[in-house]
Amino acid sequence: MTTKLTNPLLSVVVPLYNESAGLAVLHDALEKVLQHATHGEYEIVYCDDGSTDNTSALVRAWHTADSRAKLVVLSRNFGKEIATSAGIHAAHGAAILMIDADGQHPVELIPEFLAKWQAGSKVVVGVRTNNQKEGLVKRYGSKWFYRLFNRFTGMKLIPGSSDFRLIDRSVQQEFVRLTERNRITRGLIDWLGYQRDYIEFTANPRLIGESGYSFRKLFKLAVDSVISLSISPLYITAYIGAFVLPLSVLLGLGMVINLLFGDPLHLHATGGAYVMILVLFLVGVLLVSQGIIGLYLSHIHTETQNRPLYVIDKAKSLGLDGEV
Ligand code: UDP
Ligand code: MG
Repeated sequence: MTTKLTNPLLSVVVPLYNESAGLAVLHDALEKVLQHATHGEYEIVYCDDGSTDNTSALVRAWHTADSRAKLVVLSRNFGKEIATSAGIHAAHGAAILMIDADGQHPVELIPEFLAKWQAGSKVVVGVRTNNQKEGLVKRYGSKWFYRLFNRFTGMKLIPGSSDFRLIDRSVQQEFVRLTERNRITRGLIDWLGYQRDYIEFTANPRLIGESGYSFRKLFKLAVDSVISLSISPLYITAYIGAFVLPLSVLLGLGMVINLLFGDPLHLHATGGAYVMILVLFLVGVLLVSQGIIGLYLSHIHTETQNRPLYVIDKAKSLGLDGEV
């Protein structure tokens, strides 16, 4: 009996960036769980996001032994969000599950994801309940990010909702049509809608190696999420302006009164001090609004360049369409 190569029941998409140290553990665990949960009707789409270690070589060996392990190799590091998208695009399954390679997403829950999908949910989202070993900045940072994000955008993202999620093929087909380059995969899937269900999980500590996300990358992720899913920051400066303008008029009036009545509050403020404060404030507002416009402009700029989302190194990839 040959293994079916097209349209398995489940595709598992794994973005990889220098994960060779712990990848074998994940691969073994995945194979075991998937064999059981799908009766062998699965594929694992590994997406090597420009790793500089031997991540690709590992997957290459697994592909040789079992063609259900597929390999998409990007020509350089494009970042997790794009790597995940590349994997989703290459997947053939009736359902597609995304999972991190570092062991933080418990593979034992895959049967539960499948069960909820088979019960009719088009999107099944893993919601992390707590992550004891993560730094304070990350834990509270993400909590506050969700709070502010929902407040600003009026969207209802669930705190802790993660990239550990399953989508139906019909959702994938719509996902493929989204062309923006600055992308947050889970944000786009949330935007797509569809009937969804949630599975709570506790994130395991990272198996081996370091998180590929520095504070800088996380900050960029947060900013990109807001910019790509909301235009409300553009209004913030308008609100600040609406506050500052009357305030400066009042301050001006105060100054006039102060001068006319000979410093009744004993401020001993010189005119220069007033002017300095006012100028500083207004310059601050201007700089903030310039910055926000710059952010949106940069997004418009990258979108209009109309480059492909990613570049696949076809010579290094294995098991993709158009190949045997
Ligand atoms: N990853 C990637 N490209 C990157 C950074 C990370 O494909 O530029 C992958 C990484 O190999 C892992 C997943 O994205 O499978 C999550 O990465 P990590 O654990 O470093 O992120 P965190 O758990 O801190 O969000
Ligand atoms: Mg991780």
